[in-house]
Amino acid sequence: MRNTTIHKIEIIPIEIKLTEPFVISKGALTHARNTVIKIYNTDGQYGVGECCPYRSIHGETQTGTVAFAKDLAAALIGSNPREIHKHVALMDRMIAGNASVKCAFDMALYDLVSKMDGLPLYAFLQGDRDKKIFTDNTVSLLPKDKMVEKALKFKEMGFPVLKVKLGERSSSKDVDRMIAIRNAVGEDLPLRVDANQGWNYIEAHRALQAMKDLHIEHCEEPVQAGNIVDQIRLTATSPIPIMADETVFNHKDAYKVLSQHAAHMINIKLGKSGGICNSMKVAAIAQAADVYCQTGSFSESRLGISALVHFDMVWDNIIFHDLDSPLMLSEDPVIGGMTYHKDWQVTVDDTPGHGADFDPNFLKRFDVLVVK
Ligand SMILES: [Mg+2]
Repeated sequence: MRNTTIHKIEIIPIEIKLTEPFVISKGALTHARNTVIKIYNTDGQYGVGECCPYRSIHGETQTGTVAFAKDLAAALIGSNPREIHKHVALMDRMIAGNASVKCAFDMALYDLVSKMDGLPLYAFLQGDRDKKIFTDNTVSLLPKDKMVEKALKFKEMGFPVLKVKLGERSSSKDVDRMIAIRNAVGEDLPLRVDANQGWNYIEAHRALQAMKDLHIEHCEEPVQAGNIVDQIRLTATSPIPIMADETVFNHKDAYKVLSQHAAHMINIKLGKSGGICNSMKVAAIAQAADVYCQTGSFSESRLGISALVHFDMVWDNIIFHDLDSPLMLSEDPVIGGMTYHKDWQVTVDDTPGHGADFDPNFLKRFDVLVVK
């Protein structure tokens, strides 16, 4: 094996306006302010990663990711890009948390190394080319009538499943929303809900019991992240399966939650675990516990979601797919990568790496920091 090393890293803070504000119980988002990392090797090949720091979930900002990215980049220059586990461990030693910025580096490394091997990322990760993946689309937390309108529009667009943002107190308002949506879309369209930590135990218990006949696949993060006591109580009694999202960032969280029966399912996001390397560990822990997972995202472009689709193809216990963030952006600045089909199946092709890159004309709008 030739001695290829990491020679240059570019850090590019980008901004993409959302078509309309994306509203969850923690507030509204109008722009995706993401950070792009490009890692070059001494042979002139490069890999691209992307992260979308959510202040209210990661405790990270775009400015913070750029500042720390300079340190991470300096630490990786001159090293062998293939040693991904070592690089992930180094990043974790350099700073606790900061999963978002670490994810962008991890994603760029996996893209680069799979390109060096001439393999599409799913094949590099020994995934299943034939796995069928369909995405949901998400209804923002809005007044009931607006949510019904959105749900009907998404049904008309052919989405095979809808995810509905909830988490307002009192939760009886959320129950009214879900009854109205279920009545409007009919019995056959699968629905899933996400309270984004908006309820407390009482509100969550009432809502979950009241929604038990609405055929809801699962409920993400009903109470405060990390409130393991109430999560255990809810998981024991809920008629709707509970999915841990903000509570499970990485594999250590997955072990804690599953070993204490604090959730029935896990939502895996590359941007929570620090990238593909640690997300593989989350999926493996879930598999050991015979637990189903979902893949989800923040407000990444098609580039971040392309990497996520390749990862998704590795794990047969990932049976739910929330891959809609690029659909909320007012422009698509990505060349290549994953494709949405008419029936909302999501596919990737056999281009080496994750197959996606940012359009150079799009990147020209933003400052580039170079670390050599
Ligand atoms: Mg969620």
